[in-house]
Parts: sequence; C-alpha cells; structure tokens
Amino acid sequence: MTDKIKMTTPLVEMDGDEMTRILWKMIKDELLLPYVDLKTEYYDLGLEHRNDTNDQVTLDSAEATKKYGVAVKCATITPNAARMTEYHLKEMWKSPNGTIRAALDGTVFRAPIVVKGIEPCVRNWEKPITLARHAYGDVYKNTEIKVPGPGKAELVFTAQDGTEIRETIHNFTGSGILQGIHNTDESIRSFAKACFNFALDTKQDLWFATKDTISKKYDHNFKDIFQEIYDAEYKDSFEAAGIEYFYTLIDDAVARVMKAKGGFIWACKNYDGDVMSDMVSSAFGSLAMMTSVLVSPSGVYEYEAAHGTVQRHYYKHLQGEETSTNSVATIFAWTGALRKRGELDGIRELMEFADKLEKATVQTIEEGKMTKDLALITSLQDVTVLNSEDFIKAIRDTFEKNRA
Ligand code: NAP
Ligand code: MG
Repeated sequence: MTDKIKMTTPLVEMDGDEMTRILWKMIKDELLLPYVDLKTEYYDLGLEHRNDTNDQVTLDSAEATKKYGVAVKCATITPNAARMTEYHLKEMWKSPNGTIRAALDGTVFRAPIVVKGIEPCVRNWEKPITLARHAYGDVYKNTEIKVPGPGKAELVFTAQDGTEIRETIHNFTGSGILQGIHNTDESIRSFAKACFNFALDTKQDLWFATKDTISKKYDHNFKDIFQEIYDAEYKDSFEAAGIEYFYTLIDDAVARVMKAKGGFIWACKNYDGDVMSDMVSSAFGSLAMMTSVLVSPSGVYEYEAAHGTVQRHYYKHLQGEETSTNSVATIFAWTGALRKRGELDGIRELMEFADKLEKATVQTIEEGKMTKDLALITSLQDVTVLNSEDFIKAIRDTFEKNRA
C-alpha cells in the first residue's frame, strides 16, 4: 500500500442527520480514510447537537467555511412541528442551508451526474446542464394583499429624506389580489459574479434569461447588472477561456434548452430556478444523481448532496431492515470538496484522487451494480441491486481494481 495523500489545509466537515449521516461514515471509512490523510475541521450539524448549542454550531461552521474556503456538508433536517417533538427541540431552528447561504451570500449550482444506462428523458441532452439559482428575494420575500373590493392600489417608495415615488398599480372596480416583491442590486451583483466565476471555473458557457421585455425595470435591472459586470470584469477572461456569456428571454431559453446538447450553465432568477431545476433534475433521472455546490462571490465553496436525509430509509435502518440508499451525491460532495482543496493548495494527487473516485463510482453503476432507485430507471439489463453498504464496497472494489 502506498502512502496516504497528505492535505495541508483542513476541509470544513459538516456532519448531518438520519440516513445520510450513516452514509457519511461509511463513505469516510471505506472510500476516503484508506487513501487520504484526511484533514478536516469537524462540525456536527446533526439536529441534536444544533439543539444543544442553540444552533451556534451552524453559525460556527459557516464562519469556518469563510476562513478555510471549502466545506463539505451532509444533508440535515430542517425542523418542523413533527421534529420538535421527535427531537425535543428548544426551538424550531432555521434551515442550516438557509443560515449558511445567508452567511456566505451564495448562489446554488446544481448539475446531474451523467452515467450510461440512466438516460435523460430529453434524448439530445448529451452533457449535464448546470442550473444556477439566485437564492434571494422576488416572490420568496413577497407581501400580498387580498383586495376585498373597489379601490386604488399604489406602489410607494419613501426615501430616507422623505421624498416619495408613487405609481398607480390598478384602480380596482371589484375584488382581486396584489403582490409586492423586491430585490437588491447588491444581491444581484453577487449572483452575477458567482455565475461568471463558476463558468470560468468549469469552462462552460453561461446563459442567463429573464422576462425583461415585459418587466422593463425589474427584470431589466437583472439583465443590465449582469451585462455591466460581464463587460467590466469578465469579458477578457471569458474570451481567453473560449467560453461565452449570453442573455436571452426566458421563453427563448426554455425552447433552446430543450434542443441543446447540454454542457452549459443556465442562470435563473429565484422562481425560474426553483421550477427549472426540478424539471432539469427529474429529466436527468434522480435527485440522488445530482451535485450541488454553494459558491460565494468571494470564492468560498460548500459542497453537498441535492437530496435530503432520506428519512424513510433511516426508519427502516433503525428497525434493522436492509436499505438501498444511493450515496452517489454524497460521494460527489466529498470529491468536489477534495478536488477544490487540492486545486487551492496545489496538491495534484488530491485532485487526481477525486477524479478516480468519481470514475470508480460511475463505472460501478455502468457495470450494472447499483442501488434500488437507479435499478428502477436504468436501461441496463440484468443489474445487481445492492444495499447501502455493499454499493459503497462495490465502488471500493472498482477503485482498487482500477489502481492495480
Ligand atoms: P429526501 O430525504 O430527499 O427523500 C425523499 C425521497 O426521495 C426518499 O424517501 C426516497 O424515496 C428518495 N430519495 C432521496 N434521496 C435518496 C437517495 N440518496 N437514495 C435513494 N432514494 C432517495 O426528502 P424528504 O424525505 O422530504 O426529507 C427528509 C429530511 O431531509 C427532512 O427533514 C428535510 O428537512 C431534509 N432535507 C434536507 C436537505 C438538505 O440538507 N440539503 C434537502 C431537502 C430536505 P423512497 O422513499 O421512495 O425510496
Ligand atoms: Mg422546487
């Protein structure tokens, strides 16, 4: 056995909940620790520990991510009423993802993991499509009124010095509805920069689309900010990298995406990103075959799986039943983080290790060894359905075989 790969800077490791917490340990034990002298700063974001620390651990993990630059996160429970009783919580703690996103001011990029045998429904999609979703404002921070009857609706902005801008929205002659939404230039700028940086980082074209022909101020502002930042800060590096930025209308983008081959980043406003990422991910096969990374404009990266804690499987596991939970997205969260750490610290072996582990994972599935969720949708014949642990062991076997 050769020496383990050394790391110089620690990764921020955020442990999580339920079935994914079980997978987390298996992945470390079987696929990482035998090969890498793993250096992590460990934060336990499991719900129990979040509750014990009054959620301070989540804030601390976000601060550590800013300090070191790269984190890997396990899926975590976002508490609801049922979890309050299940875990005897002091408070209904906020979503850790929301807290971390707010602290890092990030944009979420999601891309499918493409394997032969799990074909996208859209046959011309040969390469993954990465969805970049702006995660602030618009309809997610709205104010709504159910208009009871006739009257005048106005949009009013009062500046700090008292001056007003006032526009009539509608003179109601009967009942109806009203909605007020906003965004900030600062948040849109962060979103734009995160997208441009990610495009350069992954050497992919960037598409951005809104409905600026109809929304001549609101959506147009997004378009203008993207263009300004592109022209001032990114044009030269895009040209040098041989990649393209282009803006189009959202309806045109949708039509083009369906005809495209893939291999690009599609940046979307908050609502469009919500809807389109679910469409794109399900068309590619499964949430368990999806990478997700939060990127901040200052170049901080947090890698995670796109799915949740797989609660239903965890309860089976607790009852001693066998589970067949897909660990691919969690493995790719680790490889993404290790590769980025290697890149930042100039450790080529670490980057190569990440590549090889991803290759072994994909190859294992392509050789017909997979978990139940994939067996249900694969076009491969005579596949072997493995349980959670045996799937990870099969990946290790492939990795070892490739090394020999
Ligand atoms: P989920 O954990 O994503 O699971 C929903 C269903 O999708 C599962 O029951 C399973 O279907 C299938 N599935 C998801 N991931 C899978 C995998 N890796 N392998 C095989 N099947 C998989 O969503 P949820 O059950 O709605 O949420 C559970 C908990 O996760 C909640 O407490 C929620 O707050 C949390 N959550 C966390 C994050 C995050 O941290 N990023 C994201 C979303 C949800 P079958 O049962 O049919 O096999
Ligand atoms: Mg959604």
